[in-house]
Amino acid sequence: MLLLNIKELAMIVPQGTTRLAGQDMLTGHTSLSSAWLRISSDGKIENFGSMVCAPEPRNDEQILNLDDRCVLPCFCDSHTHIIYPAPRHDEWLGKIQGLTYEEIARRGGGILNSADRLAESSEEKLFEDARRRAMQMIAAGTGAMEIKTGYGLDTPNELKMLRVAARLREELPANVKITFLGAHAVGRKYTGRIDEYVEMLLKEMLPAVAAEGIADYVDVFCDEGFFTPAHTQKILEAAARYGLKPKIHANELAISGGVQVGVRNNAVSVDHLERTGAEEIECLAASSTIPTMLPGASFFSNLPYGNARAAVDAGLPLALASDYNPGSSPSGDMRMVWALACMKMKLLPREALAACTLNGAAAMELSHETGAITPGARANLIITKHIADINYIPYAYTEPWIDKIILDGNVIFG
Ligand SMILES: [Zn+2]
Repeated sequence: MLLLNIKELAMIVPQGTTRLAGQDMLTGHTSLSSAWLRISSDGKIENFGSMVCAPEPRNDEQILNLDDRCVLPCFCDSHTHIIYPAPRHDEWLGKIQGLTYEEIARRGGGILNSADRLAESSEEKLFEDARRRAMQMIAAGTGAMEIKTGYGLDTPNELKMLRVAARLREELPANVKITFLGAHAVGRKYTGRIDEYVEMLLKEMLPAVAAEGIADYVDVFCDEGFFTPAHTQKILEAAARYGLKPKIHANELAISGGVQVGVRNNAVSVDHLERTGAEEIECLAASSTIPTMLPGASFFSNLPYGNARAAVDAGLPLALASDYNPGSSPSGDMRMVWALACMKMKLLPREALAACTLNGAAAMELSHETGAITPGARANLIITKHIADINYIPYAYTEPWIDKIILDGNVIFG
């Protein structure tokens, strides 16, 4: 396929670029005005250039005249919980009336509410609901996503979630990475016995999860009222023996020590970071761990926004993700994440775009194949409607600006 008359081709990086850190989030990628782009028959970006030297179409080539529309890479959403049994909008009413996350959890709501319902849900229903959510994410521009377990909280139900995730990976047109999050909360049967739950996770759940061979990563909710850094360390050490690399939930509710324990264990990413100080930034600067912030959770749950500006100014490769889940962020729309990053976290649109694309891909170890415009990358592309330029997108934050979604060279929507 040959795309002609592209108004702006955004997020072009030199081949081999797998993350953009600090200032490079703004200046390490470029745009080309009045461009063409060719997609090879195996669904990759073959090449691109300026329309003044556009190539002749090949005999069998499909031509897409973009007539002055923009093209950018699909978003890479590195943190989601899209397999869940039911929305939790009833609980949200309590939040509107002033209950905190901790109070909702204490009243038996929150994650355990989802776990109770998940235990009663069929695999087929979980799959169909999650597939529908994922297709909505794809229609909103996401081309790669991570999916976590963590509403099972006992071995059979964590395995059930993993099988649903494996089927999503098989059947969705997007790239999918799968994370085992057995330490999302303490399962109902272990209420008040967190140490015993961790022992069970280590002795029973983790070996069973590893035997399925589905999970790419392990994750722990290392935060106040959930798992401690000591619990997290134990789980990560055990998971490493099965080849599962860490991704950590840290510093959403308090400065938890989660960043440090993640970095010490070479976490691929540490996520949330709503409460992050100079020590955390210093610790991340000396590591290859990707800091991932989730402004959709801050927006929906009225939490502070992560200090994205400080992270980028300190030279970190910041990623942004949706945290799509039924409790604290019931949206997987990366368009909104992008807009929030600009409005609330003081990132420039092009910095935030790097965080939503290539750095998100890096937080899933996919940035060698997706997340930017470069020869050889998967042709996962968003084609816009007629807009002024890329900066306009997060500014016009409710405008339906997407015209087409292309994944691996195939038009999926539009
Ligand atoms: Zn999460």
